[in-house]
Amino acid sequence: MPGFEIIGKDEQKAINQLFEDGGILFAHGFDAMRKNFHVREFEQMANESFGCKHSLAVSSGTAAIKIALKALGIGPDDEVITQAFNFIATIEAIVDVGAKPIIANVDDSLNMDIADAESLITKNTKLLLPVHMLGVPVDMEGVLMLAEKYQLKILEDNCESIGAKYKGKYLGTIGDAGALSFDFGKIITTGEGGMVLTNRSIVDKYAREYHDHGHENNPQFARGKDTKSIYGFNYRMTEMQAVVGKVQLSKLEEILTQNKIRYKALEKNISSNINKRTIPKGSEPIYDAFIFFVEDEKIKNQIINLLNKEGFGTKNLPDAVEWHCAFYWDHILDKNQIKHTIITNELLNKAIAVPIWLRKSVDEYFSLGHQLKNIL
Ligand SMILES: *Cc1c(COP(=O)(O)O)cnc(C)c1O
Repeated sequence: MPGFEIIGKDEQKAINQLFEDGGILFAHGFDAMRKNFHVREFEQMANESFGCKHSLAVSSGTAAIKIALKALGIGPDDEVITQAFNFIATIEAIVDVGAKPIIANVDDSLNMDIADAESLITKNTKLLLPVHMLGVPVDMEGVLMLAEKYQLKILEDNCESIGAKYKGKYLGTIGDAGALSFDFGKIITTGEGGMVLTNRSIVDKYAREYHDHGHENNPQFARGKDTKSIYGFNYRMTEMQAVVGKVQLSKLEEILTQNKIRYKALEKNISSNINKRTIPKGSEPIYDAFIFFVEDEKIKNQIINLLNKEGFGTKNLPDAVEWHCAFYWDHILDKNQIKHTIITNELLNKAIAVPIWLRKSVDEYFSLGHQLKNIL
């Protein structure tokens, strides 16, 4: 269930308070005129919530991926291996730093197929970019194994699985860096927004400077006399986004609890021989969507019609597969890569993702499970 469903009075109060406190909407300076540094507080809260050393709030998830790639030293001639089921933003960020995206297929977990990723490694490969899709962790043990074997860096795209864990660690904190998104469809939202997570101070330092025109925020100087050693860009988050983000983050545990109850209610009634998405060992998913595979085209359409009629709809699979599968991106990828991803496209075209909504009750999920069982 996305954070927009629970946006309400608390977020509104936080915004009103920000204006009552003087309406300083910028994250830097204006010290004498403001009561809080909300962006910095949001970052502190993220450090505590996800158990990582550094969090940098930025303007979007796409920006977070790009900034993290820059901070990890990825540039022209470097190859970055990511997966064929993702969102186009991941590929755009790789291309935007001048690197080459290399696309591995996904397996039945709908995340990176580790063996296929390994087969694509060349002497130019610098970084692995696993994408934790729709609430479920990538097999990070496999990713870590490849990283060690071939001396590669890891950037986790965790835009879609905020709050999920792998072997007790929050996703986004396992690799060299992680990217979160708070756009309006995500688990928690700030309208637009994102974060770069890392435990490496050198990565955080570069990311922090790069997202703010190279500003070092040197405490010895006023901002107008600030020091710099690299050039950057503007990917800053505003105080308005951060006050909403703080409230949303405080609701994350409750969102995850509500997701799980509904998911389990749906799962309970569906027959045990249903062909479900596999969940890697050691993972704690966030139950954002219930995904299963249906071979028979007629039955698949029957289920989709039911989901639409009952007001659940589907989540990207199959309604927005064209924006989430590399097979469709011949405007950015070459022919061979498109051909390689046929396998993923065939798999995704059998998949149905039932979204978990807060506005739908536990009972409604329970009876949906019953209806699905009758069709399957
Ligand atoms: C949403 C998303 C992004 C991009 O995030 P924005 O905040 O919308 O820029 C990147 N990767 C994945 C997998 C996403 O789902």
